[in-house]
Amino acid sequence: SEPGRQRDRVVTEEEWLQKWAAGNTGFHKEHGHPLLQKYLDVLLNGRSGLRIFFPLCGKAVEMKWLADMGHSVVGVEVSEQALKEFFAEHNLSYCEEPVPEISGAKKLQSTSGNISLYCCSIYDLSSSIIGKFDGVWDRGALVAVNPRDRQRYVNLMTTLMEKNSSYLLVTVSYDPNKHKGPPFYVPESEIKSLFG
Ligand code: SAH
Repeated sequence: SEPGRQRDRVVTEEEWLQKWAAGNTGFHKEHGHPLLQKYLDVLLNGRSGLRIFFPLCGKAVEMKWLADMGHSVVGVEVSEQALKEFFAEHNLSYCEEPVPEISGAKKLQSTSGNISLYCCSIYDLSSSIIGKFDGVWDRGALVAVNPRDRQRYVNLMTTLMEKNSSYLLVTVSYDPNKHKGPPFYVPESEIKSLFG
C-alpha cells in the first residue's frame, strides 16, 4: 500500500506556478508522448472531429497534434505562462477572454478556434462550462493531482465524458519510498477503484 508520505503530500497551485517560473518543467516532452502515437486508434476509434480534453495540460505538444488532425482540443492549466508558451512555441495566434462563470479565470483560444485552453484550476470547471468530451488524454494529470484529491478529480472527469468516450491514462510505476512525487505512484488497484 501507498506510504503515508505520498498519500499526505500536497503540492499547492503556487508551487506549480513557481515550477513554471523557474523552468522546473522536466515533465514537459518536447517531442510528444510515444504512447499517444501507439494508442491513437484506441482514442479515436475510427471517429473524426472529436472533442478531446487535456486535464492539467501544461504545454503538451499533443494538443497541437490532435488539433492538426481535425479534432477540437480543450485543456485546463493553472499556469498562464505554460499556456502562453504553448501558443508561442507553435506560432499560433490566440485571443484571451474572461470566463464569466469562474472569477479570475481566462480562456485562451487559438484564432483558428480549435484549441481552447482554460487558465484556472480543473476543480473550477464543470460540463456546463466546457461541455462533454469524446476523448481524454490523461498524462501527467491523475499522477500530478494531490493524492487526497484523486477521487474528486476522477468524479469530475467522469461527468465530463460522453457515453462513448475513450480515456487514455498514462501512469508511472516506481517505488514510492524512493521519490516523494509528483508524479505520484497510483497503483493499478487504486485506478480500478477510483474509476469504478
Ligand atoms: N499534462 C502535461 C503537464 C503535466 S505536469 C504534460 O503532459 O506535459 C502537471 C500540470 O498540472 C502542471 O503544468 C501544473 O501547473 C498543472 N496543475 C496542477 N494542479 C492543477 C489544477 N488543480 N488545475 C489545473 N492545472 C493544474
